[in-house]
Amino acid sequence: MNETMIELMDVHAGYGRIEVLRGVSLSVPRGTVTALLGPNGAGKSTLVKILSGQIRATSGHVHLKGVHVNDAAPDELARAGLCTIPEGRAIFPNLTVAENLRLMRGDPEVVYARFPKLKARQKQLAGLMSGGEQQMLAFSRALLTEPAVLVVDELSMGLAPVIVAELYEVVRELAGTGVTMLVVEQFAETASAVADQVVVMAHGEMVEGDLAEVYFGGTS
Ligand code: ATP
Repeated sequence: MNETMIELMDVHAGYGRIEVLRGVSLSVPRGTVTALLGPNGAGKSTLVKILSGQIRATSGHVHLKGVHVNDAAPDELARAGLCTIPEGRAIFPNLTVAENLRLMRGDPEVVYARFPKLKARQKQLAGLMSGGEQQMLAFSRALLTEPAVLVVDELSMGLAPVIVAELYEVVRELAGTGVTMLVVEQFAETASAVADQVVVMAHGEMVEGDLAEVYFGGTS
C-alpha cells in the first residue's frame, strides 16, 4: 500500500567541480505530500533538477516507483508519470490561458471545473495575470498530464497568502486522489501544516531538528 514513489539514496550532485548535494536521501510514499524546506542556496532546486533528469547524480541512487532512474532522460521520466513545475512556473506568458491549456493533451474543461477563475480568464494573456493565477495555470497544465508524481519548486514564491492557501488545498486534494507530491519552499508555514512529511535541507544535506535553528543559526 505504501509504495515508495521517489527515493534518493546518498545522492551527490553539483555543477562542474562544485558539489551542491552532499549525500542526500529522501523517501516519498505514494499519495503523500512532502514539503522540502531550506534556506536560499541549500540545494533544493538542484534536487528538483536531479528528479526531473536535468542534471545527473555523480553518485548515489535515484529511484522513481522503484525503478533506477539515475540515467533516465527527462522525457522518459515524464512518461513514467513525473511532472515538474519549475521555479518561475513555465507557462507561456504571450499565449492566452486557453492556449496554454490547449498545448496539453487533456481536456481543459476539467481544469475549468476545478479553477473557475481560469475559466473566466480564458482569453487573457497568461503573462498579464497575477502571480497566483499564473501558478494556478501552471498547476492546471501539470494536472492535464495526469501525473503520478508532481514536484513543485517554490510553490508560494511571491504569492499572496490567500492564494497560497488555495493552492495547498489543491495539493491536499491531489494527494487524496493518489498523486504523490513534493513541494519545495523557502519559507513555509503553510507547507508544513499541509504536509505529511517535512524535510529540511541546508548546505546540500538533510538536517534534523528545529526549523528556526536551520534558518537562523544557533548551532555553535
Ligand atoms: P534557491 O531558493 O535560491 O533556489 P536552492 O535551495 O534551490 O535555493 P539551488 O538553486 O539548488 O538552491 O542552489 C544551490 C547552490 O548551487 C547555490 O550555491 C547555487 O549558487 C549553486 N548553483 C545553482 N545552479 C547552478 C549552476 N547552474 N551552476 C553553478 N552553480 C549553481
